[in-house]
Amino acid sequence: MTNPRIEIDLNKLSKNVQTVKNLFDPKGIQFSAVTKAVSGSIEIANVFHDLGVHSLADSRIINIQKMRQAGLNSQYLLIRSPMLSEIEKVVEFADFSLNTELSVIDALSKQALKTGKAHKIILIIDLGDLREGILPNEIEWMVDKVLHLQGVRLVGIGTNLACFAGVAPTQEKMSELSLLAKDIQDKFDLQFELISGGNSANYQWIKKTNDLGGINHMRIGETILLGRDTLTRKPIPGLHTDVFTLIAEVIESKTKPSQPSGEIAQNAFGKTPSFDKLGDVHRALLAIGEQDVDTKSIMPRSKINILGGTSDHLVIHSEKIKIKVGEELKFDLNYSALLRAFTSPYVQKVFLK
Ligand SMILES: *Cc1c(COP(=O)(O)O)cnc(C)c1O
Repeated sequence: MTNPRIEIDLNKLSKNVQTVKNLFDPKGIQFSAVTKAVSGSIEIANVFHDLGVHSLADSRIINIQKMRQAGLNSQYLLIRSPMLSEIEKVVEFADFSLNTELSVIDALSKQALKTGKAHKIILIIDLGDLREGILPNEIEWMVDKVLHLQGVRLVGIGTNLACFAGVAPTQEKMSELSLLAKDIQDKFDLQFELISGGNSANYQWIKKTNDLGGINHMRIGETILLGRDTLTRKPIPGLHTDVFTLIAEVIESKTKPSQPSGEIAQNAFGKTPSFDKLGDVHRALLAIGEQDVDTKSIMPRSKINILGGTSDHLVIHSEKIKIKVGEELKFDLNYSALLRAFTSPYVQKVFLK
């Protein structure tokens, strides 16, 4: 094994998926398991697929292509509105996609007709988070246009909150989505297959509400991967928060002053850091940095403090224990650290069964 590495406990992951399924199934909610934070990892996608999730979802068609070509025989949902430059691949590799632009759906329609492979559309409505989405007052116009296109089939509507502006998926927002869905279905005499209420941020709402309205689908990533409620980042009881373990190796260990000496200017990342006056402290350097992981988003499992990271080094401080060169230290990761570690070719992925 090489360092740094990330160990993935597939058993704990599988339990997380099962726990979420056990909550969602009796309520009639299916979910797409979102693989974007793990770069469409085949080993992880396999776990999701074997547990019978509705579909595998990713924001990048290249990840969907990889999973599909690995022979993973699932339904695939592209959760980022397709680029016009990737339409061919979207129709070839994804069964359905989240959409907000008529010009894109029109291109999907043309490609679907050309290849004889139908493509399913979910229209995303912006209920205030102000990332992607059609505004509610434009949805009828859009539905009408999409229904006139061939090759594409409108299978549902949905929304995505708590991603950009942090708008919470409250009962009010979810009822608004259900009501919009009902109005459209009545007006156009349609029956939607999917009303896709949101992402991991909807977890507590699903748990507590006694009014799901028409919502019957979610897209879940962080909660099954990291076991946390994404509105508060608190651990969800019953879910494992340690599916992933980041491991890095110590390459220097010395007692040094806690404060730098000399004239202070900017560091490698354009910041002017400050350090507490603690006298001499045990400091260690680990061979991991910003090119491997978001160093601000990892939490040590042992009693050490992270002082900071540069491209290839992490500087830590330990009050009591003297750390040895060659020692391996373990860390928890939050979402942005996980995303970067999986994207980095310098971090080995080790799957534990
Ligand atoms: C990333 C994403 C999700 C999954 O979000 P989690 O917080 O990881 O559950 C769902 N829907 C869309 C549109 C996304 O971009």
